[in-house]
Amino acid sequence: MYIDGNWRDARSGRTFEVTNPATGESLGEVPDGDAADVDDAIGAAAAAADEWAETSPFARADLLMEAWRIMRDRSEELAELMTTEQGKPLRAARFEVSYAADFIRWFAEEGRRLGGEWFPSARPDQRFLALHAPVGVVAAITPWNYPISMLTRKMAPALAAGCPLVLKPAEATPLNARAVFEVFHDAGFPPGIVNLVTASDPAPIGEVFTNDPRVAKLTFTGSTAVGRKLAAAAGGSLKRISVELGGHAPFIVFPDADPVRAAKGAAALKFLNAGQACISPNRLYVHRDQAEPFLETMTERVGRVVCGNGLDEGVGCGPLVNDVAVAKVEAQVDDAADKGADVLVGGHRLVEGDHAAGHFFAPTLLGGVTPEMIIYREETFGPVAPVITYEDVEEVIDLANDTNYGLAAYVYTNDLATAIRSVERLRFGIIGVNDVNPTSASVPFGGMADSGIGREGGREGLLEYLETKTTGIAL
Ligand code: NAP
Repeated sequence: MYIDGNWRDARSGRTFEVTNPATGESLGEVPDGDAADVDDAIGAAAAAADEWAETSPFARADLLMEAWRIMRDRSEELAELMTTEQGKPLRAARFEVSYAADFIRWFAEEGRRLGGEWFPSARPDQRFLALHAPVGVVAAITPWNYPISMLTRKMAPALAAGCPLVLKPAEATPLNARAVFEVFHDAGFPPGIVNLVTASDPAPIGEVFTNDPRVAKLTFTGSTAVGRKLAAAAGGSLKRISVELGGHAPFIVFPDADPVRAAKGAAALKFLNAGQACISPNRLYVHRDQAEPFLETMTERVGRVVCGNGLDEGVGCGPLVNDVAVAKVEAQVDDAADKGADVLVGGHRLVEGDHAAGHFFAPTLLGGVTPEMIIYREETFGPVAPVITYEDVEEVIDLANDTNYGLAAYVYTNDLATAIRSVERLRFGIIGVNDVNPTSASVPFGGMADSGIGREGGREGLLEYLETKTTGIAL
């Protein structure tokens, strides 16, 4: 753990083990923090808050740029650590490190543009000024699926805005979190500004985060169930909250689209991170006239995906995070098959040979998926592409919107009017039009409804850590 500028053990002296999900091998032990350690960390952040808020945004930006440079220099070792601890193929891990570093640079730049606004008044002898001020101490909780970029997406804007923070990473990926904090330590951030508490039991930490009056803001990325609970608890003390939660993304192929291009896009996107992404397509709506070429291309592409240890050359799909995750995917696939879905590729666990010690599920393509199947509504978080064949173009947006989630959606069409109408009618926070990567540090990321509250990245990502102060000035 990293508290008040020092690397230290848990007060209790307890530790927990971290394992490689591809091999089951132990990667070592990390401190197992609890409420007492979080209390220390919040104390350190609170003590450092005023000075950090008063530090010039230019000086804060310089420190962030130094962290960006260090992260870029260490990108290869960070990527290898990510693949070893989290499982994604090395190429994808390299991409994530670069995406993570982008957030640091973006918010270093945005922090320097932290201006206010000057307003006229109805009274000739009055002027108004609206200023931004840091919210104060930030408590952050992050997931395992993007174990570096989900940290920098919170840390960089909080720090640029002038807020110190305490972060609890996922139990599965504390070594990635430690490596990120080493970057910030080496960049020279003063003691108390960034604090890391690793823990195997998140509940007591969540309780302190949501109840401690010294915490001004809670920022969480993870499942809808946990986010809802934490947001409700934080509401008791009226903390500022941002919650980035689950998704169930539709992927619509309109009759005028190129079905082969759409299938290539879907195959590339679906198996990224073994399907363990909040913006992964969960329902692929393909028009009846396009179904044959689409499924043919998908079958060929999905069949080619090699599943294994992400450090091995040519692997396109790594392990799932643990056995519970494998069992959930298996239950969804079995339910779909029982209810009449066609298992076109895969459909089973991988348990032989090199896969025996890891948590692997075969890249899977399902055809003939219908609304009665669990997979049609429940977030999958695994390497399964469920295809639904539709007939009515007028109806497909309503089908896509028929979910409690509202994070990402994808549309394939060659007609500009169809693209614009779809974007306007889809109730999702992020939409790709003929594009499977509609994300960047420079644009807002976040969802509607059960997918959360708030946005990360872009200009909005900085505003999440700022209060507005209106000042009336009598002349
Ligand atoms: P999770 O179970 O909700 O865990 C997320 C984080 O919350 C982890 O650090 C976890 O700690 C912690 N946590 C769990 N229970 C808690 C409690 N009672 N109090 C305080 N903290 C608690 O989610 P996950 O399975 O790790 O992540 C997958 C989910 O994240 C998916 O639903 C995915 O869609 C979503 N996600 C969303 C975005 C987005 O930007 N919208 C991005 C990535 C992922 P432990 O690890 O110790 O359990």
